[in-house]
Amino acid sequence: MANSFVVEISKSENVVFPKICIYCENLNPDDFLKVTTHTIGLHSFLLKFGNFFSANVPICKFCKHKFRFPKWGRFIAGIILMSIGMFLSIYMFGEISAWYKKWIFAGVILITLIPLFIWQLVFPAYFELTAYKDSIVYEFKSENYALEFVNKNNKILNQ
Ligand SMILES: [Zn+2]
Repeated sequence: MANSFVVEISKSENVVFPKICIYCENLNPDDFLKVTTHTIGLHSFLLKFGNFFSANVPICKFCKHKFRFPKWGRFIAGIILMSIGMFLSIYMFGEISAWYKKWIFAGVILITLIPLFIWQLVFPAYFELTAYKDSIVYEFKSENYALEFVNKNNKILNQ
């Protein structure tokens, strides 16, 4: 995400989230939201396969559905676009029997997913997780929240 704030922390560390709603930034939110790495995006498509991670993030009960809705919207849009990509690649290149056929398919699917990537760049999610081999990348839309998060995890970050 272009306009988001990124913090990378080792996978083995216990991360603490500030007691602030991830969505509206109210203090002392009354609920938690389980955020997993299983979202469809550029990162997940290229890097995240096989890497699963989840975090419990403080959120208001009221904000929960507002946070989830765009995620589901993107997820469904991703599935629809991928299906279109699959259909197009079978339609255009289904007859080819070369070793690189699956790469053509992957390329076509990637191209059909471009609108989704652009959407994510223009409207970044409030919070996103990406799991790498040894570390987790936390992406925040709010600079304020990202700073609070860094403060809370100062000890781990300075090691
Ligand atoms: Zn809230």
